[in-house]
Amino acid sequence: MIPGRTTAAVLTAPRGTVALVTVPVAEPGTGEVLIRMEACGLCHSDLFVASLEKLPRVPLILGHEGIGRVEAIGAAVAGFAAGDRAGITFLASTCGACEFCVTGRERFCPRQLNFGYTVHGALAGYAVVPAPMLFRVPDPIPAAEAAPLCCAGWTAYGALREAALRPGQSVALFGMGGLGHLAIQYARHFGLRVAAVDVSESKLEMAKALGADLMLTAENAGRTLQKQWGGADAAIVLTGSPAAIQQAFRSLKRTGTLITSGLSTNQYELPMVDTVLKGISIRGSYLGTRADLVEVFRLAQSGVGRAHIETHALDAAPGLFEAMRRGDILGRAVVVF
Ligand SMILES: [Zn+2]
Ligand SMILES: [Zn+2]
Repeated sequence: MIPGRTTAAVLTAPRGTVALVTVPVAEPGTGEVLIRMEACGLCHSDLFVASLEKLPRVPLILGHEGIGRVEAIGAAVAGFAAGDRAGITFLASTCGACEFCVTGRERFCPRQLNFGYTVHGALAGYAVVPAPMLFRVPDPIPAAEAAPLCCAGWTAYGALREAALRPGQSVALFGMGGLGHLAIQYARHFGLRVAAVDVSESKLEMAKALGADLMLTAENAGRTLQKQWGGADAAIVLTGSPAAIQQAFRSLKRTGTLITSGLSTNQYELPMVDTVLKGISIRGSYLGTRADLVEVFRLAQSGVGRAHIETHALDAAPGLFEAMRRGDILGRAVVVF
């Protein structure tokens, strides 16, 4: 049965507040499904969207880490039926025909739509969404634990795979929030030496408990890593902080790779001399391949990449975004419906 209305966490205006709003629930159209949401994680990219001066759509339902059950399907939907479990990510739809789409790199499609940005997201009791980019989610993973994997887990795993390191090599992970605490687990799974960097002592404690080999406070992390390990083979910056990127750059071994995956409108000045003379590679990493997310779910079932979560009801969402802005969330805050 399709309910007439549901409650959603809505960004009311560009740079506006997040409010709880009752919204109508539409019937799923062609190529769409109606999902009854079970859980949705809160991501820093939601804050990034909320901080933008211009938005493609407002008011906007936020949320792009959603797990739910298919309640109804529209015309021409293949692969999903009522009752199926589905995962919503940041990728809502892609063109399917461009050079990126046809080579498994849909995330770089120039015509992509994004949940909680160009189309309404998953922070609502019900969501009507396009079906093609929905993911199958294994039933044994509880919804609240599976939700953060749809963005934080996928992004962290994708960034580590982009780093293309061999077992025994070293990686420095900057930012021990939602992405970082999962990245440690994937890095250890890949057999890497892991340094964890953050400004928060409690987040570094968690990094230690998850098996990081070295915990460093953000200030002077670069120099310390040079002293202790002779630098890292790769540094992955999981926040949008230019100061973190600066330290990550300094932490690299010669011919090392710097990967940035946190969104920010800030600028970073590239140190030209060191980039050239040390043969540094710098690249951005955005989500991962579809196969990466399938692997993330598979790993979670085997106990690798389990999200540390705190669960809340939807009416806590406005306050949670503020707590996240202050850096007060350990692991991932997840709304359960
Ligand atoms: Zn996200
Ligand atoms: Zn495309």
